[in-house]
Amino acid sequence: MALSKADGKWKLLVKHRAGSLDTAFATFRLRTMAISFGVLLVLALGITMLTVSTERARVLAKLQMEFAMGISHELRTPLTVIRVAADNLANGMMVNAQHTQKYGRLIGDEAHRLTDMVEQILTFARTQSPRRGSDLSPVAPEHIVRRALAVCGPALREAGMEIERFVDPGLPLVSVDENLIVDCLQNLLNNAVKYASSGGWVRVCAEAVSHRDGAFVRITVEDRGPGIAPGDLPHIFDPFYRGEAVRSSQIPGVGLGLSLVKRIVEAHDGTIEVKSSENGGAAFILYLPAQPVEVPAEAEMKEVTS
Ligand code: ADP
Repeated sequence: MALSKADGKWKLLVKHRAGSLDTAFATFRLRTMAISFGVLLVLALGITMLTVSTERARVLAKLQMEFAMGISHELRTPLTVIRVAADNLANGMMVNAQHTQKYGRLIGDEAHRLTDMVEQILTFARTQSPRRGSDLSPVAPEHIVRRALAVCGPALREAGMEIERFVDPGLPLVSVDENLIVDCLQNLLNNAVKYASSGGWVRVCAEAVSHRDGAFVRITVEDRGPGIAPGDLPHIFDPFYRGEAVRSSQIPGVGLGLSLVKRIVEAHDGTIEVKSSENGGAAFILYLPAQPVEVPAEAEMKEVTS
């Protein structure tokens, strides 16, 4: 600020520290704009987060609804069979012991089916939050394949399927929750029974492979069934998804099997792929990280048994 007495009149000059009044206004405007922009950014972030969480809640609610509907539908069929068979038994409608045995077997089979379903749902719930590392132990892939085939072999053979088993000798161990990984293989083999028995053939194959992400054991379950329709392919690992053609069929299932397999394999830092060709046939390929030992780049497969 300066005072001068040029024409005998007082003159007052006011000067801002930043320079001219225009510069001061420009600085002030810039600062205000920056603050407004910051506030808007925070608001936009808040709105985005709100939208994302609302959408998540909506998807979760839809999933829960589908889950409840899928389970109720799947439970209803075996329960109806059990109820009718039990009513008939109770009302003395059996004409002979053979009839009674038949109904007994029917009730037993349906009860088994219910147990399997409940087990699958429980495993699904358990793998929602896998306790990483808690139950891991080094296991020979050969042992996993043998255990899964010991359980599923009879059903595969009963469905008229030839079983081929190839295990690369000297495979590295995999660090896994053995029961869960055996479950995965059983799931894939049960699907082969359900969807691919027409092909009359299934092959389980375990090999060592290595690529830039490290050494892996690759376990493949391959069949010569109808394969997976291109429209179904992107969705088959989604929870509760069932193939278009399967939905209207009598084949039991709630669409949890493959999502479960994927979840379990990924919880072991592995991956799963599916291949299906135009001419039919499906191949599910699991990659499980191998324990660190020297493995050949792409091992030659050797047939162990068939
Ligand atoms: P679910 O068997 O209860 O339907 P999954 O998650 O195991 O559920 O399978 C999802 C879908 O993938 C099945 O409904 C079926 O359409 C398809 N699918 C799975 N395995 C095979 C297979 N080996 N061949 C043909 N389709 C298959």
